[in-house]
Amino acid sequence: MFDVIRIPAFKDNYIWLLRKGASALVVDPGDARPVLEVLEREGLTLEFILVTHHHADHQGGVAGLLSRFPARVFGPATESITAITQPLHGGETIGLESLGVEFQVLAVPGHTLGHIAYYGCGSLFCGDTLFGAGCGRLFEGSPAQMHHSLTRLAALPDLTAVYCAHEYTEANLRFALAVEPGNSDLLKRVDEVAVARARGWATVPSTIALEKATNPFLRCSEAEIVASAQRRVAQAKNSLEVFTVLREWKNGF
Ligand code: ZN
Ligand code: FE
Repeated sequence: MFDVIRIPAFKDNYIWLLRKGASALVVDPGDARPVLEVLEREGLTLEFILVTHHHADHQGGVAGLLSRFPARVFGPATESITAITQPLHGGETIGLESLGVEFQVLAVPGHTLGHIAYYGCGSLFCGDTLFGAGCGRLFEGSPAQMHHSLTRLAALPDLTAVYCAHEYTEANLRFALAVEPGNSDLLKRVDEVAVARARGWATVPSTIALEKATNPFLRCSEAEIVASAQRRVAQAKNSLEVFTVLREWKNGF
Protein backbone atom coordinates (compact mmCIF):
# COMPACT_ATOMS: atom_id res chain seq x y z
CA MET A 1 0.00 0.00 0.00
CA PHE A 2 0.94 3.63 -0.46
CA ASP A 3 0.77 6.77 1.65
CA VAL A 4 -1.13 9.74 0.28
CA ILE A 5 0.07 13.34 0.57
CA ARG A 6 -2.36 16.16 -0.19
CA ILE A 7 -0.75 19.03 -2.12
CA PRO A 8 -2.89 22.18 -2.32
CA ALA A 9 -2.54 24.14 -5.57
CA PHE A 10 -4.03 27.31 -6.98
CA LYS A 11 -7.10 28.51 -5.09
CA ASP A 12 -8.85 25.25 -4.30
CA ASN A 13 -7.20 22.38 -6.24
CA TYR A 14 -5.76 19.29 -4.61
CA ILE A 15 -2.93 17.37 -6.28
CA TRP A 16 -2.69 13.87 -4.78
CA LEU A 17 0.77 12.36 -4.30
CA LEU A 18 1.08 8.64 -3.60
CA ARG A 19 4.34 7.34 -2.20
CA LYS A 20 5.81 3.97 -1.38
CA GLY A 21 9.44 3.96 -0.29
CA ALA A 22 11.16 6.47 -2.55
CA SER A 23 8.70 6.02 -5.45
CA ALA A 24 6.00 8.59 -6.09
CA LEU A 25 2.97 9.09 -8.28
CA VAL A 26 0.91 12.25 -8.66
CA VAL A 27 -2.66 12.66 -9.84
CA ASP A 28 -3.69 15.76 -11.80
CA PRO A 29 -0.65 18.01 -11.34
CA GLY A 30 -2.00 21.34 -12.52
CA ASP A 31 1.11 23.05 -11.18
CA ALA A 32 4.64 21.58 -11.02
CA ARG A 33 6.10 23.84 -8.35
CA PRO A 34 4.32 22.60 -5.21
CA VAL A 35 4.79 18.98 -6.36
CA LEU A 36 8.53 19.47 -6.90
CA GLU A 37 8.78 21.01 -3.42
CA VAL A 38 7.24 17.91 -1.83
CA LEU A 39 9.33 15.50 -3.94
CA GLU A 40 12.47 17.30 -2.89
CA ARG A 41 11.52 17.61 0.77
CA GLU A 42 10.64 13.91 1.00
CA GLY A 43 13.50 12.66 -1.22
CA LEU A 44 11.11 11.00 -3.69
CA THR A 45 11.47 10.00 -7.34
CA LEU A 46 8.44 10.78 -9.45
CA GLU A 47 7.68 7.69 -11.54
CA PHE A 48 4.06 8.07 -12.60
CA ILE A 49 1.70 10.90 -13.48
CA LEU A 50 -2.03 10.17 -13.73
CA VAL A 51 -4.28 12.70 -15.47
CA THR A 52 -8.08 12.54 -15.35
CA HIS A 53 -8.96 15.13 -18.01
CA HIS A 54 -7.51 17.85 -20.18
CA HIS A 55 -8.26 21.02 -18.16
CA ALA A 56 -5.15 23.07 -17.40
CA ASP A 57 -5.64 22.98 -13.62
CA HIS A 58 -5.20 19.19 -13.86
CA GLN A 59 -2.32 18.81 -16.31
CA GLY A 60 -0.61 22.22 -16.58
CA GLY A 61 2.30 21.03 -14.42
CA VAL A 62 3.09 17.87 -16.38
CA ALA A 63 5.73 19.45 -18.63
CA GLY A 64 7.53 21.03 -15.67
CA LEU A 65 7.60 17.70 -13.83
CA LEU A 66 8.88 15.84 -16.90
CA SER A 67 11.75 18.30 -17.18
CA ARG A 68 12.95 16.97 -13.81
CA PHE A 69 11.75 13.32 -13.81
CA PRO A 70 11.30 10.90 -16.74
CA ALA A 71 7.90 9.78 -15.46
CA ARG A 72 5.33 7.75 -17.37
CA VAL A 73 2.23 9.81 -18.03
CA PHE A 74 -1.18 8.11 -18.02
CA GLY A 75 -4.30 9.87 -19.25
CA PRO A 76 -7.41 9.64 -21.38
CA ALA A 77 -6.70 8.48 -24.94
CA THR A 78 -9.54 10.55 -26.35
CA GLU A 79 -8.47 13.97 -25.01
CA SER A 80 -5.63 16.04 -26.39
CA ILE A 81 -3.00 16.04 -23.66
CA THR A 82 0.36 16.15 -25.41
CA ALA A 83 2.58 14.57 -22.76
CA ILE A 84 0.66 11.31 -22.38
CA THR A 85 2.86 8.23 -22.88
CA GLN A 86 0.22 5.68 -21.81
CA PRO A 87 -3.15 6.55 -23.39
CA LEU A 88 -6.01 4.87 -21.52
CA HIS A 89 -9.59 3.81 -22.17
CA GLY A 90 -12.27 2.89 -19.64
CA GLY A 91 -12.12 -0.80 -18.74
CA GLU A 92 -8.34 -1.03 -18.75
CA THR A 93 -6.27 -1.92 -15.70
CA ILE A 94 -2.84 -0.45 -15.03
CA GLY A 95 -0.27 -2.07 -12.79
CA LEU A 96 2.22 0.24 -11.08
CA GLU A 97 4.61 -2.23 -9.52
CA SER A 98 6.93 0.06 -7.60
CA LEU A 99 3.89 1.44 -5.77
CA GLY A 100 2.36 -2.00 -5.33
CA VAL A 101 -0.96 -0.92 -6.80
CA GLU A 102 -3.29 -1.70 -9.66
CA PHE A 103 -5.85 0.84 -10.82
CA GLN A 104 -8.97 0.19 -12.82
CA VAL A 105 -9.65 2.90 -15.37
CA LEU A 106 -13.27 4.06 -15.31
CA ALA A 107 -14.70 6.10 -18.16
CA VAL A 108 -16.73 8.87 -16.50
CA PRO A 109 -17.80 11.31 -19.23
CA GLY A 110 -19.76 14.43 -18.31
CA HIS A 111 -17.46 17.21 -17.06
CA THR A 112 -15.40 16.50 -20.19
CA LEU A 113 -16.11 13.81 -22.77
CA GLY A 114 -12.94 11.80 -22.21
CA HIS A 115 -12.79 12.16 -18.42
CA ILE A 116 -11.48 9.03 -16.67
CA ALA A 117 -11.19 8.04 -13.01
CA TYR A 118 -8.72 5.68 -11.32
CA TYR A 119 -9.91 3.11 -8.78
CA GLY A 120 -7.69 0.79 -6.79
CA CYS A 121 -6.61 -0.16 -3.24
CA GLY A 122 -9.92 1.14 -1.89
CA SER A 123 -9.24 4.59 -3.31
CA LEU A 124 -10.92 6.56 -6.08
CA PHE A 125 -9.21 9.45 -7.87
CA CYS A 126 -12.10 11.07 -9.68
CA GLY A 127 -10.84 14.47 -10.86
CA ASP A 128 -13.77 16.81 -11.47
CA THR A 129 -16.51 14.18 -11.71
CA LEU A 130 -17.58 13.59 -8.09
CA PHE A 131 -16.95 16.25 -5.42
CA GLY A 132 -17.69 16.42 -1.72
CA ALA A 133 -21.51 16.87 -1.76
CA GLY A 134 -21.46 17.83 -5.44
CA CYS A 135 -20.40 16.99 -8.95
CA GLY A 136 -18.53 18.65 -11.80
CA ARG A 137 -20.09 21.07 -14.24
CA LEU A 138 -21.14 19.71 -17.61
CA PHE A 139 -18.67 21.48 -19.88
CA GLU A 140 -18.75 18.85 -22.65
CA GLY A 141 -20.99 15.94 -21.77
CA SER A 142 -24.74 15.54 -21.39
CA PRO A 143 -26.71 15.19 -18.16
CA ALA A 144 -27.35 11.56 -19.11
CA GLN A 145 -23.62 10.87 -19.41
CA MET A 146 -22.82 12.49 -16.05
CA HIS A 147 -25.75 10.80 -14.34
CA HIS A 148 -24.52 7.44 -15.63
CA SER A 149 -20.92 8.19 -14.57
CA LEU A 150 -22.00 9.16 -11.06
CA THR A 151 -24.19 6.07 -10.79
CA ARG A 152 -21.14 3.92 -11.57
CA LEU A 153 -19.05 5.67 -8.92
CA ALA A 154 -21.85 5.32 -6.36
CA ALA A 155 -21.77 1.56 -6.95
CA LEU A 156 -18.18 1.30 -5.65
CA PRO A 157 -17.76 -0.13 -2.12
CA ASP A 158 -18.99 2.11 0.70
CA LEU A 159 -15.57 2.48 2.31
CA THR A 160 -13.86 3.67 -0.89
CA ALA A 161 -11.90 6.85 -0.17
CA VAL A 162 -12.96 9.56 -2.62
CA TYR A 163 -10.07 11.80 -3.65
CA CYS A 164 -11.55 14.59 -5.72
CA ALA A 165 -9.55 17.41 -7.22
CA HIS A 166 -11.11 20.48 -5.57
CA GLU A 167 -12.07 21.71 -2.11
CA TYR A 168 -15.66 22.59 -2.98
CA THR A 169 -17.49 20.76 -0.21
CA GLU A 170 -18.67 23.74 1.88
CA ALA A 171 -20.28 25.58 -1.06
CA ASN A 172 -21.73 22.32 -2.37
CA LEU A 173 -23.32 21.67 1.04
CA ARG A 174 -25.14 25.01 0.92
CA PHE A 175 -26.80 23.83 -2.26
CA ALA A 176 -27.45 20.35 -0.87
CA LEU A 177 -29.19 21.93 2.11
CA ALA A 178 -31.46 23.95 -0.18
CA VAL A 179 -32.41 20.75 -2.00
CA GLU A 180 -32.82 18.39 0.95
CA PRO A 181 -33.17 20.27 4.25
CA GLY A 182 -34.73 17.25 5.98
CA ASN A 183 -31.69 14.97 5.60
CA SER A 184 -30.18 14.48 9.07
CA ASP A 185 -26.93 13.01 7.70
CA LEU A 186 -26.59 16.15 5.61
CA LEU A 187 -27.16 18.44 8.60
CA LYS A 188 -24.46 16.56 10.50
CA ARG A 189 -22.02 16.91 7.59
CA VAL A 190 -22.75 20.64 7.30
CA ASP A 191 -21.75 21.09 10.96
CA GLU A 192 -18.63 18.95 10.64
CA VAL A 193 -17.46 20.69 7.49
CA ALA A 194 -18.06 24.14 8.99
CA VAL A 195 -15.81 23.21 11.93
CA ALA A 196 -13.15 21.70 9.64
CA ARG A 197 -13.04 24.66 7.28
CA ALA A 198 -12.95 27.18 10.12
CA ARG A 199 -9.78 25.43 11.26
CA GLY A 200 -8.37 25.34 7.71
CA TRP A 201 -8.68 21.57 7.41
CA ALA A 202 -9.40 19.73 4.18
CA THR A 203 -12.73 17.93 3.73
CA VAL A 204 -11.31 15.54 1.12
CA PRO A 205 -11.05 12.54 0.93
CA SER A 206 -14.60 11.60 1.73
CA THR A 207 -16.13 8.15 1.22
CA ILE A 208 -18.66 6.67 -1.16
CA ALA A 209 -20.91 5.95 1.85
CA LEU A 210 -20.84 9.61 2.94
CA GLU A 211 -21.50 10.82 -0.59
CA LYS A 212 -24.40 8.41 -1.03
CA ALA A 213 -25.87 9.72 2.24
CA THR A 214 -25.42 13.45 1.61
CA ASN A 215 -24.63 14.27 -2.03
CA PRO A 216 -27.85 15.34 -3.78
CA PHE A 217 -26.49 14.34 -7.19
CA LEU A 218 -26.29 10.72 -6.00
CA ARG A 219 -29.75 10.89 -4.40
CA CYS A 220 -31.99 11.80 -7.33
CA SER A 221 -34.60 9.18 -6.42
CA GLU A 222 -35.09 10.39 -2.81
CA ALA A 223 -38.62 11.73 -2.27
CA GLU A 224 -37.56 15.07 -0.76
CA ILE A 225 -35.13 15.72 -3.62
CA VAL A 226 -37.66 14.73 -6.27
CA ALA A 227 -40.16 17.14 -4.66
CA SER A 228 -37.57 19.97 -4.61
CA ALA A 229 -36.79 19.38 -8.28
CA GLN A 230 -40.49 19.34 -9.16
CA ARG A 231 -40.99 22.74 -7.55
CA ARG A 232 -38.66 24.04 -10.26
CA VAL A 233 -39.64 21.76 -13.15
CA ALA A 234 -43.00 20.13 -12.52
CA GLN A 235 -42.58 17.31 -15.00
CA ALA A 236 -39.24 16.04 -13.58
CA LYS A 237 -39.94 12.45 -12.58
CA ASN A 238 -37.21 9.87 -13.05
CA SER A 239 -33.78 10.21 -11.52
CA LEU A 240 -32.15 11.45 -14.74
CA GLU A 241 -34.74 14.23 -15.08
CA VAL A 242 -34.26 15.15 -11.44
CA PHE A 243 -30.47 15.13 -11.89
CA THR A 244 -30.83 17.42 -14.91
CA VAL A 245 -32.88 19.90 -12.90
CA LEU A 246 -30.42 19.84 -9.98
CA ARG A 247 -27.36 20.38 -12.20
CA GLU A 248 -29.06 23.33 -13.93
CA TRP A 249 -30.23 24.77 -10.59
CA LYS A 250 -26.76 24.48 -9.09
CA ASN A 251 -25.21 26.37 -12.04
CA GLY A 252 -27.12 29.48 -10.98
CA PHE A 253 -27.10 28.90 -7.21
ZN1 ZN B 1 -11.98 20.31 -14.92
FE1 FE C 1 -10.63 21.31 -12.13
